[in-house]
Amino acid sequence: MAIIDLQLKAELLNVTGLIPNEDKEAYNWHFKIQCGSCQEITKNFVTINRVQGTQISGSRGGANLVMKCKYCKREGSASIVSMPIEYTDKNNGKFASILSIECRGLEPVEFEPRDGWRVVGTESQAKFDVDLTEGEWYDYDEDAGVETSVTEIKAQFVRAKHPAKDASSNKLPTENK
Ligand SMILES: [Zn+2]
Repeated sequence: MAIIDLQLKAELLNVTGLIPNEDKEAYNWHFKIQCGSCQEITKNFVTINRVQGTQISGSRGGANLVMKCKYCKREGSASIVSMPIEYTDKNNGKFASILSIECRGLEPVEFEPRDGWRVVGTESQAKFDVDLTEGEWYDYDEDAGVETSVTEIKAQFVRAKHPAKDASSNKLPTENK
């Protein structure tokens, strides 16, 4: 069992607080997953959502993602154990953790941000819907009269040193913020 943090690095221009829009807990995260036994990586991106779950075989516990490796047939599981954390303009150009995932027998190795994000104008506090499907986003903040953008997005996964708060529980998290 390991806690893996998804870290993001980006350049935010005149905006801050990059985070999934609307229902932050129910956001669909898209990862490529590596098998912990044979190291094979899924060809396609796999969706993991904190409010959806599956039973783990031979166990009474559940996880947000239960996956059998196509090659070695080992089953692994993963659960999101934190709410998403805003990436702010103070982090510009530096990696910062935005999500913690508890992993057993598999690990996420690639992240695609896709759609469904938002930022707020640094000056105007105006809210913008952000689509990162193209890897970057540009708009104009009319209230503040400035150009806005999110560019240079990179992701990495690191083993978290901190224990996640609800990592001891196999139950699907019910915490609401
Ligand atoms: Zn495998």
